[in-house]
Amino acid sequence: MQLSDNATICVIGAGQMGAGIAQVCAQAGYTVLLVDAALERAAAGKAGIEKQLNRLLEKGKLDAAGRAAILARIEPAGAEQAYPHADLVIEAASENRELKFAIFEQADALTKPTALLASNTSSISITALAARTKRPERVIGMHFMNPVPIMKLVELVRGLQTSEATLNAIRSLAEALNKTVIVSADRPGFLVNRILIPFLNEACLALDEGTGSAEDIDRGARLGLNHPLGPLELADLIGLDTVLAIARVLEQDFGDPKYRPAVLLKNLVAAGFLGKKTKRGFYTYDDNGAKLGRAT
Ligand code: NAD
Repeated sequence: MQLSDNATICVIGAGQMGAGIAQVCAQAGYTVLLVDAALERAAAGKAGIEKQLNRLLEKGKLDAAGRAAILARIEPAGAEQAYPHADLVIEAASENRELKFAIFEQADALTKPTALLASNTSSISITALAARTKRPERVIGMHFMNPVPIMKLVELVRGLQTSEATLNAIRSLAEALNKTVIVSADRPGFLVNRILIPFLNEACLALDEGTGSAEDIDRGARLGLNHPLGPLELADLIGLDTVLAIARVLEQDFGDPKYRPAVLLKNLVAAGFLGKKTKRGFYTYDDNGAKLGRAT
């Protein structure tokens, strides 16, 4: 079982990850139907992709004809219109278990029986998502990294029911998108976020305890550990709501209090300070996402 070159991929969720996934799939030549909770949001996701392609054009990495061809392959659509055409669904909606359960149930009901269903979830059990469908062997985790067009890694997650054929088909797709694959068993946070989220949470705790400033925590990781971004900058990039949601999955699904999220993280999310996407998190940002300074 392989996805054909002219396969149609339905991307659910047109936020920062869904838009990035749509972009790389269209760049690789696939037809993409981009769906969000409302058509306007899907259209806004496509407009964001156009901005990204314009930057590539300015840098001489893409020509005008290439840009036009990629954009022509991405169509904002409603879920009910899109699903029947899909050979593969890649779900990248908000990190909320009940929401993803509902999306998988609808996708299972409305796509052809041969379609594969993938989730870009950062932490939620693929086994549990698969159990919401009548085709659990065709369900898999396909966890892209942020920003999708730049980051080389895709983490594939095998649910208990995921078949070898599904794993192989999605591995081939990831390679066609020029990505390098790692495979994780279905455990909370998989491989990457199992390591990352405790690190980000610990940085929040250190900041909250007054151990050091936000700038020094980030500088410490950048210059002391050779990380390209410090943990607080990275949390702002990911989205603090997403970081908190993953921390809660780790805490709940492992049943281990060592994963409990920092109060500062919870408070920032409660205030609506979600990081770069709302222009304020640990730092403030301008309309183009450039860092302005530390949030007071
Ligand atoms: P985001 O907040 O930027 O986007 C989420 C999108 O989902 C929004 O546009 C929202 O309108 C949409 N949505 C909500 N309900 C929907 C529905 N019923 N149908 C369709 N769309 C719906 O979040 P994001 O950062 O793009 O994260 C999306 C997923 O990707 C999450 O599961 C997250 O854990 C995962 N992820 C995020 C990162 C990251 O760095 N942000 C990295 C890897 C994976």
